[in-house]
Amino acid sequence: MLCRLFARGSVLLVVLTTVIWSGAAWCWAAEAPTTSWKAGVAAHVITPKTPMWMAGYAARNKPSEGKIHDLYAKALALEDSQGSQLLIVTLDLVSIPRPLHDSLVTQIQKQWGISPERVVLGASHTHCGPELRMGKAALYGLQPERVQQARQYMAELKQTLLTLIGHAIETKCPVELSYTHGRAGFAMNRRLPTENGIQNRPYPNGPVDHDVPVLCIDGPTHQLKAVLFGYACHATTLGFYQFCGDYPGFAQQYLEQAHPGSVALFLAGCGGDQNPQPRRTLDLAEQHGRALANGVEAAGNSKSRSSRLTQSFQILPAPAP
Ligand SMILES: [Zn+2]
Repeated sequence: MLCRLFARGSVLLVVLTTVIWSGAAWCWAAEAPTTSWKAGVAAHVITPKTPMWMAGYAARNKPSEGKIHDLYAKALALEDSQGSQLLIVTLDLVSIPRPLHDSLVTQIQKQWGISPERVVLGASHTHCGPELRMGKAALYGLQPERVQQARQYMAELKQTLLTLIGHAIETKCPVELSYTHGRAGFAMNRRLPTENGIQNRPYPNGPVDHDVPVLCIDGPTHQLKAVLFGYACHATTLGFYQFCGDYPGFAQQYLEQAHPGSVALFLAGCGGDQNPQPRRTLDLAEQHGRALANGVEAAGNSKSRSSRLTQSFQILPAPAP
């Protein structure tokens, strides 16, 4: 069921082999810990400074009106004992437009020598971020100045991301890495079979993935430096006119509050067929964020370790019209 989130416009599916991470797909080779890792992490606010058209729902009829909390871009640079590198960038955005992806991976390879298959760019798919997809903008019939505004935001976002990535790569230091997983139960299938075909409605008996994969990065004095976690569920609790990271944004916020000085990064799993339930209020987005943060915290006792990175990479063909 991959993922209406990733398939259209043929964005990317990145697979780090030996691990299965709910479709965003990764893991660590299952070997005994023998050597040290290095990691660097950075975060930067990417909330638009002015009202913008918002992504995710065609029914919206006006630009954004303020924010609930800030949207973030975050970068995690990893290096294994063999010197192999991996760069993970997460964004509180609905998607990463293909032109932005392509120009970023080209620049990253040129500037830091990290090849595209070692770069993971992940959008949380919040439906309360700015609209960046020019095709969608045209579809909505936006005024040319709104399209220009999206282009300007994307140009600034690219520069912000390159600065952020550079900081993460250039501040790598020895860490301990450990992988574990927990659970959260608010994702529900939304492809209900009916006499009239499949309908977009809650389907409690449908397939669902409640796993919460967690990668912990601990600093030299065993303090949490970063935590990377995932969940396979559309970030659609909310549909209003304020910028907000939805449940992934709240989960990251709660984890960073619980572990001062750490950076929490969210990667969306294969959740295009899942909606958070119940939904539609800010209070529920906060509750789902709390449930996911609790899933991460509860996973903390069963860590396994490994020492080596492997990866593969594939660009999926665009779906048939
Ligand atoms: Zn969506």
